[in-house]
Amino acid sequence: MIRHRFLALALLLFVAALTGPVRAQGRSDWLTPFPAFTIAGNLHYVGSAGLASYLVTTPEGHVLLNPSLEANVPLIRRSVEDLGFKFSDIKVLLISHAHWDHNAGAALLKQETGARYAVMAADVAAVESGGRADFHYGSFPGSLYPPARVDRVLRDGDTVELGGTVLTARLTAGHTKGCTTWTLAVNDAGRTLQAVIIGSPNVNSGYKLVDNAAYPGIAADFGRMFATLKALPCDLFLGSHGNYFDLAGKHPRRAAGAANPFVDPAGYARYVAGKEQAFRTELAKQRGEPRPAATKESPPTPRLLFIGNSFLFGSGSPLRYYRADTVTDLNGTGFGGVPAVVKAFATQAGRAFDVSQETVSGQGLDHHVAEKAGVIGRPWDHVVMLGYSLLDRNRPRDPALLIRSAKQIADLLHSHNPRVDIRLIATWARADQVYPAKGHWHGTSVEQMTRDVRAAYDRAAAGSPHLRGVIPVGEAWLRAMQTGVADPNPYDGIAFGQVCLWTHDHYHGSTHGYYLEALVIFGDLTGLDPRSLGKGERVAFELGLSGDQAIALQQVAYDELMAMKGRTRLESFTPVALAK
Ligand SMILES: [Zn+2]
Ligand SMILES: [Zn+2]
Repeated sequence: MIRHRFLALALLLFVAALTGPVRAQGRSDWLTPFPAFTIAGNLHYVGSAGLASYLVTTPEGHVLLNPSLEANVPLIRRSVEDLGFKFSDIKVLLISHAHWDHNAGAALLKQETGARYAVMAADVAAVESGGRADFHYGSFPGSLYPPARVDRVLRDGDTVELGGTVLTARLTAGHTKGCTTWTLAVNDAGRTLQAVIIGSPNVNSGYKLVDNAAYPGIAADFGRMFATLKALPCDLFLGSHGNYFDLAGKHPRRAAGAANPFVDPAGYARYVAGKEQAFRTELAKQRGEPRPAATKESPPTPRLLFIGNSFLFGSGSPLRYYRADTVTDLNGTGFGGVPAVVKAFATQAGRAFDVSQETVSGQGLDHHVAEKAGVIGRPWDHVVMLGYSLLDRNRPRDPALLIRSAKQIADLLHSHNPRVDIRLIATWARADQVYPAKGHWHGTSVEQMTRDVRAAYDRAAAGSPHLRGVIPVGEAWLRAMQTGVADPNPYDGIAFGQVCLWTHDHYHGSTHGYYLEALVIFGDLTGLDPRSLGKGERVAFELGLSGDQAIALQQVAYDELMAMKGRTRLESFTPVALAK
């Protein structure tokens, strides 16, 4: 008797030890209500903070993906009603995969709505046995749930159609045998967005990837899953848990009404790559391979952040929204700007950067310290930043605030990655400040304002050991004017054969001005010769610069970079074509 009790207790402890880490993962927020909101078009979020549920609304009734826990069904109902829809209009019920956190409420939800339940074939046994047929959790009492009858059995590529909306079921097995990634095209304000709702890419703690008698093909399935996910076109990046796609971080920006933060193809690619890496590492470990093909892996793509204002995002030029989908705008505004151009140059030079920007119109670095620390405070490999064009908004020409806030940002970034490379960009002289009588540099010259701004940035760079140096963008502009490439005074017209680096306000850059800025940043960051981009450089072509203008500006950037103290050479390269 005593012996039996001891055994029972031991078994209980064993089960608790196995389920513990899995159940604990994010569990605290599984029951936490989350505001219902529209992700895009007819696709809405109706889940809890930790467990994602989606509602797809149509004129012929609605589709609900992930009934979640039984206890969350009333929460889902309230979310559906908060959005102005009827719970009883749910006609089709779907799941991401047959785990209790996504499907335990299915029986109750079917009963309340009469919805038809469609499940991927390989997950049907688990669903109809209330989790007992699950290859891993089948004997864990805490993972079981009320069985629900499946009305339609799905295969890879099957579609669910209702009221003109089509959802496609992609088998992405591994996490469960029938784990499903759902895709659909969403019409949002005249724009078609491809949504991908990831089933789960996770190798849970305790999963056997090798010699798994209960799921012999598990490792091969995981491999196929990553191939499938990488091939899916994705605009809207979503998944079965909010933490897959940073629901908590993106939702406030959605509410703020800026560009839709859930449109995040780069975030999707990054997430899938990271999860594949984790799977490969775990597989190698379980196979007893000491180092998981570490030599073959390419090093991670360096993360490059731009911090600044309209002088970076490109106010006054069509470059502002140029290739916005190639960079991550951390403020969700949807800018491409100089960061996207630098990235395009790097790509043509065969260098990859994962580029983000945090830019706010009309602000100095003090604003980013005060308001954006939570956004920029993460590990970066490279950061380039610039301050307000008059040095201080309220005290023009006074460098004190710039010096102080540059040091504060450097300290913040350094605390997240001690190896971060941070550079300041010295900006250009503003014609509107030099020539008109009301200008703060009136009575001096473009050259003087350039030198004053540069001196302020030099002092800022000297103020922190974490600041590597100053990128001479303003001086490159000056050099362009002094060598006859650019006109120095737009108030008396633009000389024949010259470009104007300022836009119509004689303040912000023109496309030519930003092009030169991007060339200097690119050359300084990479140590590559901007002249190698050549006459056929793609950005110049797409933004309407002539080939001769492009090479003249590349030469100016090269000369300015070579004039920097300590630089003896810039490496040349053969450009590769930029994808459309
Ligand atoms: Zn799961
Ligand atoms: Zn889950």
